Amino acid sequence: MATPPHFSTLYLSAPDVIALVQHKGVEPCLRGIADYIQADFLRWGMFDKSARVASHSRDGVIELMPIADDQTYAFKYVNGHPKNTRWGLSTVMAFGVLADVATGAPLLLSELTLTTALRTAAMSAVAARVLARPGARTMALIGNGAQSEFQALAFHHLLGIDTLRLFDTDPAATAKLRANLQGMTGLRTVACTSTAEAVRGADIVTTVTADKTNATILTPDMLAPGMHINAVGGDCPGKTELHADVLRRAQVFVEYAPQTRIEGDIQQLPPDFAVTELWEVLAGQHGGRASDAAVTVFDSVGFALEDFSALRFLRDAAAELGMGQPIELIPQLSDPKNLFGLLHTRSPMLRVVA
Ligand code: NAD
Repeated sequence: MATPPHFSTLYLSAPDVIALVQHKGVEPCLRGIADYIQADFLRWGMFDKSARVASHSRDGVIELMPIADDQTYAFKYVNGHPKNTRWGLSTVMAFGVLADVATGAPLLLSELTLTTALRTAAMSAVAARVLARPGARTMALIGNGAQSEFQALAFHHLLGIDTLRLFDTDPAATAKLRANLQGMTGLRTVACTSTAEAVRGADIVTTVTADKTNATILTPDMLAPGMHINAVGGDCPGKTELHADVLRRAQVFVEYAPQTRIEGDIQQLPPDFAVTELWEVLAGQHGGRASDAAVTVFDSVGFALEDFSALRFLRDAAAELGMGQPIELIPQLSDPKNLFGLLHTRSPMLRVVA
C-alpha cells in the first residue's frame, strides 16, 4: 500500500505527554499502561523479539529497543548515564516511534522519558501482582531518584502498599521523594539511614539505584522469608544491585531471558541458571511463587514490549483527548518515484529570506 497523499506522523512532545498525564491522572495512566502491558504479554508468541542493541561508553549506554507484531513496529531510543544528574541532565532519557508494518510509515513519534518511568513502574507492579505474597503492605524503596515516585505510586495503587521505607545515599533525593508524595492519603513514608534498616519488615523491596558498578545493595543477610524483590536498577553489563547469593536463594523471574542474561542481575550467574519468563506466569503456564516462604526476584531490565504497550497507550489516549501535532517527518510526494523532484520546489524557509 502506498503512503497516502496527506500522510503525517503524530508528534507527542514532552509538554504534550505531561499535559496528557495531568489530564488523565497518574493513577489511571499507571493502571492503563499496566493493562496494555498485561494484554501484550499475553500475546507473547505473536511478537518478533530481540535483545536491545547497546552502545557502551565509559560513563553510560545508549540503546535501541525494537519489537513488532504483524501490524505495528515500535522502537525506543534510551540512554543510561548515572553521572548525568551532576550536570543537570536526567540519568535516563528516551523517545520512541510506532510504525505501520504494512507500509513502514511512521505513525507516532513520542517523548518517552516520563513515559519510561510510568511503564517501568507499571511493569514492576504487573510482575509483583503475580509474584508478591497477597496482603503485602510495606515496601522498601532503595534509590529515591527520578523513577522512585512512579514505583511508589504504582505499588500503592495497584498492590495496596501503604508504607514505604526509604533509603538513598543522597538524603536530598529521599527528601524530594517524601515532598512529592506528601498529602497522598493512605501512604506513609519512613526515611531510613541504610538499606539494611529500610528492608527490615518489608514485604517487597524495590531497588532502583543508578551506579555503573557491580553493587551489592541487597545481601543475603537482609532477606526474609516471603520477600519479593523488584530489582530495577541492574540493567546493563557491569551494572548490578543484588549480591549473587540473593539470586541463588530466590526464584528469579525475567522479562526476556536472552536480554536479561546479558544485562540483568543474573549476568553474575552461569548462562544455564534457571529463570522463568514473566509471560509464562501471566499466561498461567508457570505457577510463579512456590510457597509463602519463598523469596521471589523480578530481575527487571526493561524490554521493548513494555514500550510498545506504552506507545499504544499514548496513541490511544492522545486520540481520545485530541492531543499532539501532525508533523511532516516524511516528505509528501505526488510521484513517489520522483524524490529528486522535491529539490525543484521552493523551500518555505528560502521564501522567507528572499
Ligand atoms: P536517578 O539517577 O535519578 O536516581 C538514582 C538514585 O540512586 C540516586 O538518587 C542515587 O543517589 C541513588 N543511589 C545510587 N547508589 C545508591 C546506593 N548504593 N544506595 C542507595 N541509593 C543509591 O536514576 P533513575 O532515573 O531513578 O533510574 C534508577 C535506575 O533505574 C537506573 O539504574 C536506571 O538505569 C534504571 N532503570 C531501569 C529501568 C528498567 O526497566 N529496569 C527503567 C528505567 C530506569
